[in-house]
Amino acid sequence: MRRTVLLPLLAVVFGGATLALMQTPARPAHRFTKVTDTLYGALGTGAMNVGSNAGVIINDKDVLIVDSHITPAAARALATEIQTLTDKPIRYVVNTHFHFDHAHGNQVFPDDVLIIGHEFTREKLAGDPLNEPSFKSFTSGVPAQVENLRKDVAAETDPAKQKTLKDRLDVQSAYADALKEVKPIPPNVTVRNKMTLFRGGREIQILFFGRGHTGGDVVVFLPREKVLFSGDLFVPNLGFMGDGYLDEWIVTLDELKKLDFETVVPGHGEVLVGSAAGHERIGFVQAYMKDLWAQVNALKSQGVPPADAAKKVDLTSHKTQFAQLTAPGVDARAVARIYQVIDERARR
Ligand SMILES: [Zn+2]
Repeated sequence: MRRTVLLPLLAVVFGGATLALMQTPARPAHRFTKVTDTLYGALGTGAMNVGSNAGVIINDKDVLIVDSHITPAAARALATEIQTLTDKPIRYVVNTHFHFDHAHGNQVFPDDVLIIGHEFTREKLAGDPLNEPSFKSFTSGVPAQVENLRKDVAAETDPAKQKTLKDRLDVQSAYADALKEVKPIPPNVTVRNKMTLFRGGREIQILFFGRGHTGGDVVVFLPREKVLFSGDLFVPNLGFMGDGYLDEWIVTLDELKKLDFETVVPGHGEVLVGSAAGHERIGFVQAYMKDLWAQVNALKSQGVPPADAAKKVDLTSHKTQFAQLTAPGVDARAVARIYQVIDERARR
């Protein structure tokens, strides 16, 4: 039933209905967290690998989405499922940063859709995004993961557990297929520090506060509604730091905290509601980052190789705020990146 309704729409919007049929998951790929009648966070349900959250801003005549997800298939699912909220056309896409899980769905949008991102984001996506270390580090293992899951499904004798594994296999093998279709395209409109869209009665600010999670993270801020779409510049439960400028990031977050927001739709994790919630949580993230930066600097000055430093760093004192920090050790990519940033500073 669902497919018979959605497919003709997809065919009109994107063409490629056969592909869409293959890749449209049986249950919705998103749950929409309502902020107001015209503002939503689009969070993945697990039926499909969508990679990151997206934001949905429904204006008088058109729709702006914040981030385009991890693959063209995921972006198509987003565009399709947004039709359960509105029949207005998607006219704007903001890429909060260049990372694959926020920007590799860009290609599904027609040429007249404005894809907005920082100058740095355009540079990265117009460069060689499929050879970015972050992209490769997250995707090179996918075929092996699919094979391992296939073996696990075959070996599992408990029917309930086998069903769970089979669901994971289906999601992961659909993702492996979807990756083959990716042809990254860069933003066609760039921002350096600030851009404002006035759509009907709404003001939409696209803001850059300095380097952080990457060299060019923008956030989307609605001053009247006091809603912030923060991308990965701020995620409530700590995110990937392998492309970051950690010391600058802490300062950039000081600027972000000055915004008067009451709701945050982050790039990953749940939507935060309440004026205290977001601001306080940014402070916890900054405290973690300051500690990480100090510990890694100390280990580097002692001549500890980055991979060993990654095992030694102990941030368990932050586990009241971040429950995952149960044992010492952090992502080796984050530590390697901090070493790189320190060395770059020293060369200047
Ligand atoms: Zn990211």
